Amino acid sequence: MLGFKVEAIPAFTDNYIWLIRADGNHCAVVDPGDAEPVIERLDAEGLSLDYVLITHHHPDHIGGLLALVERHQPEVFGPADPRISGIDHVMREGGRARLTKLGLDFQVIEVPGHTSSHIAYFGGGALFCGDTLFSVGCGRLFEGTPEQMQSSLDKLAQLPTSTRVFCAHEYTLGNCRFALEVEPGNEALQRRARAVKTARERGERTVPSLLGDELEVNPFLRSRAAGVVAAARKRIPGAEPGSDTLAAIRAWKDAW
Ligand SMILES: [Zn+2]
Repeated sequence: MLGFKVEAIPAFTDNYIWLIRADGNHCAVVDPGDAEPVIERLDAEGLSLDYVLITHHHPDHIGGLLALVERHQPEVFGPADPRISGIDHVMREGGRARLTKLGLDFQVIEVPGHTSSHIAYFGGGALFCGDTLFSVGCGRLFEGTPEQMQSSLDKLAQLPTSTRVFCAHEYTLGNCRFALEVEPGNEALQRRARAVKTARERGERTVPSLLGDELEVNPFLRSRAAGVVAAARKRIPGAEPGSDTLAAIRAWKDAW
């Protein structure tokens, strides 16, 4: 169980802006790509936006930040990156984002790969990982190397298996289809794919997922698993377990 409530504010076509709530009317949001749906929710529920957590600089994660700052004056936590305006607390590996009005405290983990300055927030059993780790997938390597992404995913994989993974996009259905091409014989993945299909048909969210489940089904967290390495070697002969395999699978997915 989480020690706090997390709700989804859907944005654009497949983004989730996560709304973190504790008792009372204090709250925080993660990666507000769009201010409008956030303001609507705050107004509808009489919430005070005290904090914003930013994972990386992409517009669909920060596009609403300045409008929210102007209207609500939250304290803003984010990575060291000149491409993001409005950060009050520049966060680095091992730093802590203290959301004192919510009684919450998140550990900061640097996870370069999708972008060079991407960070994740972990605390209270929840991981807010932006576009680094998705359910049954991972982010594209826009600014990082496969080695960096491997090392970032390795850090996340070491968190408790009970961790709830709050990624920023609803990509799980397509990710399952791809993962089944990589590991068609993975029974846990087959079960997850069926459950995700049913959930999406009902219009339900598929995130957060459990880290322990991701370790069994997510090919990018399984770059040392025999089946994933074998699939990678069909694309890049001799690919080694780890970042080589991750690179091969990621390139395959990019072209898929
Ligand atoms: Zn991104």
